[in-house]
Amino acid sequence: MLTGANARLLVEYGSEEQIRTWGVPQIEGRFFGTMCLSEPQAGSSLADIQTQAKQEGRDEYGQRFRIKGNKMWISGGDHEMGENIVHLVLAKAADANGEQQPGINGISLFIVPKILPDGMRNDLAVAGLNHKMGYRGTVNCLLNFGENDGAIGWLVGQPGQGLQIMFQMMNEARIMVGLGAAALACRGYNQSLDYARERPQGRQVAGVKDPSSPQVPIIEHADVKRMLMTQKALAEGAMALVLYSAKLADEVRTASDGSERQNADALLKLLTPITKSWPSEFGLVANDYAIQIHGGYGYTREYDVEQIYRDNRLNSIHEGTFGIQGLDFLGRKILADDGVAFGLLDAEICRTIARARNWFQLSKYADVLEEHLTDGRSSITELKAKKGDPNVLDNAGLALSAFGHLVVAWLWLDQALCAHKLEDSRSTLRDSKLAACRYFFECELPKVTLQFRLLRNMNDAASSVPLNLFCN
Ligand SMILES: Cc1cc2nc3c(=O)[nH]c(=O)nc-3n(C[C@H](O)[C@H](O)[C@H](O)COP(=O)(O)OP(=O)(O)OC[C@H]3O[C@@H](n4cnc5c(N)ncnc54)[C@H](O)[C@@H]3O)c2cc1C
Repeated sequence: MLTGANARLLVEYGSEEQIRTWGVPQIEGRFFGTMCLSEPQAGSSLADIQTQAKQEGRDEYGQRFRIKGNKMWISGGDHEMGENIVHLVLAKAADANGEQQPGINGISLFIVPKILPDGMRNDLAVAGLNHKMGYRGTVNCLLNFGENDGAIGWLVGQPGQGLQIMFQMMNEARIMVGLGAAALACRGYNQSLDYARERPQGRQVAGVKDPSSPQVPIIEHADVKRMLMTQKALAEGAMALVLYSAKLADEVRTASDGSERQNADALLKLLTPITKSWPSEFGLVANDYAIQIHGGYGYTREYDVEQIYRDNRLNSIHEGTFGIQGLDFLGRKILADDGVAFGLLDAEICRTIARARNWFQLSKYADVLEEHLTDGRSSITELKAKKGDPNVLDNAGLALSAFGHLVVAWLWLDQALCAHKLEDSRSTLRDSKLAACRYFFECELPKVTLQFRLLRNMNDAASSVPLNLFCN
């Protein structure tokens, strides 16, 4: 994931020589790539990074700098799987007047390869390995750059544009994180479904009094069915969301019409924080149920669901935490936006609602979705009216959850519309999709009513609590 995204960033912003030297070998699978943003003291707040870059000249690869600083949490930061590792490093460099711009305007992006073009090792070292809860298939380390003379790095793009350029890689990685989370949710569902079909335990309520009757597989118990259906509704809903975003990403590049490309881009930008966060947050809920269905065995390493849960736990942390994605969604994509992107989403949802009204079995969901969409719309209008209020973003995480549920409900209705048309030979797929759509609409979607109310009222039950009352 990181290698592909690193190479694509270089193709977009690197010079021809940089693409040839570090981009192409990654595409060929000879080099690997990383993204080096986080530092021990700066994770969510990248404006506060301290890594320094000092210009020392120019050569065929571009403007050359010496980099000094520590980068924390670097996935794939060191290993011997390829010939080289291409680190893309955010660092602060002085501007043409020798002054350092504060905040993100002072941040530039550098290529800092492990092995320099002349075959020598660059001045960077692994300072420690992070022993993670999950995701143990990738190494993750603290890297020290420039402990001696300074690591050699070459500027990518323009000075001061580092974070902006890096957003190409981050946005791509965010969709991939959503995909990973959705895939893990689906895998947990599949594994617990297999287990539930095979594990005999207890009897139907009606047969409890007859201990000589055979035990039933746990899939027959209502509570297990509830946990399975929750997983299916969340996991397949998350996958639909990621696939929709992937389609938008394709359309940004391939739509024949310029305005279609623009619309796809606007929608993708609006949905990226949801596509990253909703599968991460609710995929984990699904994985929690996958463990629960396995009972005590789910709590051991005997079964995969324990690892799936640990792996998925990362996804609401890296590439911007759930809280940070909430601020991006509500702050930038909704309140600071002119409303065009949300208008496009709104129109898409309305189109599905109109199509669903043509089918008796689905028209009730069309009504419910319209009701919640109206609720979402009016929440935005009310919050926009309070835009200057310093507390307007306090419930940004709630907004992310509520609009995430709304979008996934829309995609469930869309899936139901497709499934509805399947012929009888595919009736199991058709009816299982319709059952999951019903479950989402009846058991998940109603949760957003409370969330939209808290959001509109700018509920301060947590945010207004003085710090000294957080005591134990
Ligand atoms: C396994 C793993 C792999 C990673 N891979 C990479 C990588 O390859 N490259 C890389 O650069 N980084 C990587 N990261 C770092 C990751 O992106 C950060 O951990 C993440 O951005 C959070 O930063 P932090 O850990 O410093 O937490 P903090 O920023 O300290 O956040 C702690 C908590 O405070 C909340 N918070 C912080 N600021 C705010 C705010 N303004 N408003 C509301 N809430 C806030 C957060 O949401 C979070 O809940 C990785 C992390 C892990 C665990």
